[in-house]
Parts: sequence; structure tokens; C-alpha cells
Amino acid sequence: MQPKQKKISIIGAGSVGSSYAFSLMMSGIAREVVIVDINKKKAFGEALDLSHVQSFISPVEISYGNYEDIKDSDIVVITAGLNQKVNQSRLDLVKDNTKIFKEIIPKIAKNAPNSILIVVTNPVDVLSYVAYKISDFPKEKVIGSGTVLDSCRLRSLVSNFYKIDAINIHANLIGEHGNTEFPDWSKANISGIPFDKCNLIKYKKEDLEKIFEEVKNSAAKIIEAKGSTCYGIAISLLKITKSILRDENSILPVSSFIDNYLDVNDVYLSVPALIGSQGVKGILKMDLSNDEINNFHLTAKTIKDVIKQIGF
Ligand code: NAD
Repeated sequence: MQPKQKKISIIGAGSVGSSYAFSLMMSGIAREVVIVDINKKKAFGEALDLSHVQSFISPVEISYGNYEDIKDSDIVVITAGLNQKVNQSRLDLVKDNTKIFKEIIPKIAKNAPNSILIVVTNPVDVLSYVAYKISDFPKEKVIGSGTVLDSCRLRSLVSNFYKIDAINIHANLIGEHGNTEFPDWSKANISGIPFDKCNLIKYKKEDLEKIFEEVKNSAAKIIEAKGSTCYGIAISLLKITKSILRDENSILPVSSFIDNYLDVNDVYLSVPALIGSQGVKGILKMDLSNDEINNFHLTAKTIKDVIKQIGF
């Protein structure tokens, strides 16, 4: 029997969508990639550019198309919509991008009803909820990229600061992919040893707080310098994609549907979740400190208020 071909569709051929397409091509994980954009010429150009490297990479068919062409996708990644401008918050994009989601989610649901949706468009937690409600897909199959990128940034910066490989740094950002996110410092560790007990570093709480502030400001700093962020999110999306397509069972802080979690219900937020072939297979219950639980309630309220404002 032929192995199942892995098909990924990308809605939105902007800087995030095209960087992700490039990372997919380099990874060799997909056999077919379809790019859809309201700006057909842009989708055409990106697909054509990417299709000329066949002799140097694993076989992959790349094309641009309409919603009919996303049929049988394993994963549909949604990057369509406005991005932040300087001095804008992610939540400022909610009205425009909800309007776009109302238009595109029914088309995705109709043409790729068995796919897993990965939402990237900001505000990602609100729009993951919107995609879940409009698509009527099982909650496990609608995933937001959440704080996967933010947590990766946190680990990278901590790693650079202490000169310890990021693979040995265990720390996540929890909650909104935005201003109310917070680090799980009470659980964070270096190879299983809490930061304040680790003999390999000179622990100072203020150092970690400074690093967190830097992480929080990273996107704004990059947008100020070059207009948008794309490579970090592309590689974060590749990690989520691999975990789904290869059933890797990675624990990643994606934005997932939260139900009965620290007294929070009916919202999308990032907490560590087990990701495999069926999407979200489970959510890790975390033993957070009282301050962190308060932060979790605040971040949940922030997202729930916005969801209510847009009428969902
Ligand atoms: P971009 O402007 O470069 O690309 C957006 C693309 O969406 C454009 O090509 C545009 O034509 C397309 N588009 C707009 N309306 C559409 C529609 N109705 N149907 C199909 N395509 C449509 O923007 P970008 O920098 O690629 O960012 C895309 C989104 O991703 C933004 O909302 C941004 O904030 C978000 N983002 C999220 C993260 C994250 O961590 N979640 C990181 C970076 C960017």
C-alpha cells in the first residue's frame, strides 16, 4: 500500500505564509503544499518561486489555487489577515481579521472537513475561538500557534544569558499570545532543577524578569525594524506541523480550547498541550503558584471580553 501523501494548505501568502511554505519545503515533511490568497498573483508568485528547487530537495508538489484545491489537506494553516503596525497591539486587529475569518472559515470547512486547522492570524487566541465556532470542527482539531514562538524566544534568551543549551531550558509562556501572557517561573527549570537551586548559574530573579520583558517586546521591536515577523513563527509552525504529521506527541504551548482548567472555561489560551496526529490529545494540568493562577484568570478574562465584544 502506498503511504498516505501529506498535504498542507496555507491560506495567506504574506510574509508568514511564504516563510512557512519555505520551511516546509526545506523540511521534506510534506508531499503537497497549496497556497491560497485573496491576492492570487502573490500566491502564484510564491508558489512559482518555491517550485524551482526540486532538484535540491525532497519531492514536494507546490501550487497555488482556490479553496477547491485544499481538498484532502491534512492540515490547513491560516495566516490570512492584517498584521500589526508599529504601536498597534494584536487585539487591535480583531475586527478586521474576524471579518476575514467569517469569509474564509466556511470555505475551509466545506473543502477540507477532515483537516486540522492551525490558526496563526492575530489576535490568535480570539481567532482560534472564532475558527472553532464557525467551522464546527472538534475542538482538538482547531489549534492556535499560541505562545509556541514566545516560549521559544524565552528559552533562546535564557539560554544566551546563562550560556546553557536551550534544549535544557524548560520554561513556557502561558495565556494570551499578547500583553497578558506570563512565564511559568514556578515550574521553569534547567534539566529538572529549579533556576534558584541550579548551581550552574548565578540566579537573580530580576535577570529572568528582564528577559521576560525583552521577550514580550520582541515582536514590536522586529516590526519596528523590518515591518513584520516571519522566520520565528515559520519555524514554530514547522514544529507544530511535524508533531501532527509524525504523531510525535510533543508537549507545546499551543492555544487550545480551555475547559474546566483552573476554573476557566470556554476560551482559547496557551497552556502546554500534547500534540499528535489527532491534534490536541490532552492538556497538561499545571500546579501553578497563587500569583500565576491570578495571572491566568486575568489573561482568560482579557480574551473572553474580546470574544464577547465581537459577538461570539
Ligand atoms: P501579510 O500582510 O504579509 O500577509 C497577509 C496575507 O493575507 C496577504 O497576502 C493578504 O493578501 C492575505 N489575505 C488578506 N485577506 C485575505 C482573505 N480574505 N483571504 C485570503 N487571504 C487574505 O501579513 P503577515 O506578516 O504574513 O501576517 C499574517 C498574520 O499572522 C497577521 O495577523 C499577523 O499578526 C500574524 N502573525 C502571527 C504570529 C503568531 O505568533 N501567531 C506571528 C507573526 C504574525
